Amino acid sequence: MMRFGDFHTHTVNSDGANTIKEMADTAVELGFYALGITNHAPMPTSGGFYNRQEWLLEIVREVEELRPQYEGKLELFAGIELDINTELDVSPLDYIIEANHFPIAPDGATCVVDWGVDNVHKAVNEHFGGDIYAFIARYFEELSRAGDRGPATVGHFDLINIYNEDDCLFSTKDKRYIDAAFGAIDVLSKKDVIFEINTGALYRGQRTQPYPALPLLKYMKELGCRIILDSDSHSTDMLRGHRMLDALEHAKNAGYKESEIEKYPLLRKK
Ligand SMILES: [Zn+2]
Ligand SMILES: [Zn+2]
Repeated sequence: MMRFGDFHTHTVNSDGANTIKEMADTAVELGFYALGITNHAPMPTSGGFYNRQEWLLEIVREVEELRPQYEGKLELFAGIELDINTELDVSPLDYIIEANHFPIAPDGATCVVDWGVDNVHKAVNEHFGGDIYAFIARYFEELSRAGDRGPATVGHFDLINIYNEDDCLFSTKDKRYIDAAFGAIDVLSKKDVIFEINTGALYRGQRTQPYPALPLLKYMKELGCRIILDSDSHSTDMLRGHRMLDALEHAKNAGYKESEIEKYPLLRKK
């Protein structure tokens, strides 16, 4: 039986419900070999927020302090889920996940991808002339910059489908969708990145398959892209209900062998 690691988790340091220690204890209980803490970097919606660099260093310190307690039981890593349009000095971290929750429209407006379908419609209507495929193209075009600031995991590659179960919002068979999504894979496949199979929306019942959708994952396999399994847990309950086996099956359905799944994200040289 494969032992799992989880390199995409949130804690009270951002929008998670539990502390780093609580998440680590749960990971031990589950028999995971490693846990990576990846809180959201302060986001545009965070308003005045706090000193971002100090916030980041506090997480690094907390992980470093906890590490000895888990020696021989669980490897602990300090990472971050960093938005593609967010600037931050990530040098103190072990690794980064780059994701795109907030595409910037051509008129400069910050839009949202996963903050409710009404806000997606609003963004499309107000900033993309009502053309959802223009919004999608923007999303993927920005996300294809992942890896430009060093090795990275590409977080929930097709998050843009969060409200699109059964293609109810747009068609993933439309040429404009295909060009945008597959085009981004073409660009990213040439860089030092790993794609995650992310089961967050599967756990929450928003999607019936993990990100990335199977046709995209098959294309990644074709191009020789590396993959890792992540739960995107925001609580110990979610970690306990992890869907790693579904993620593994999804990978196999796309043609990946168990031995081809990465054990660690691409670590930054410090
Ligand atoms: Zn995310
Ligand atoms: Zn996340």
